[in-house]
Amino acid sequence: MGKILFIVIALWLIFTILKRYFNNVNSSEDKQASKRSEDMVQCHRCGIHMPKSDSLVVNDQYYCCAEHGKDQDV
Ligand SMILES: [Zn+2]
Repeated sequence: MGKILFIVIALWLIFTILKRYFNNVNSSEDKQASKRSEDMVQCHRCGIHMPKSDSLVVNDQYYCCAEHGKDQDV
């Protein structure tokens, strides 16, 4: 009987820890999402989406990196 009780308590502990962990992950993701959803732009060359603050602006076009901004003929 003691063994079963131990297993139940162990499962409950694992469940509680996992629940707490996933709640933390979700809340931090929500914060990031609300922060990042302000201004999303698309790289003019490869089409990747990124926050406007992380992008590079060349000739009024947004780029994900300096290489895509300067090297447009390839
Ligand atoms: Zn790009």
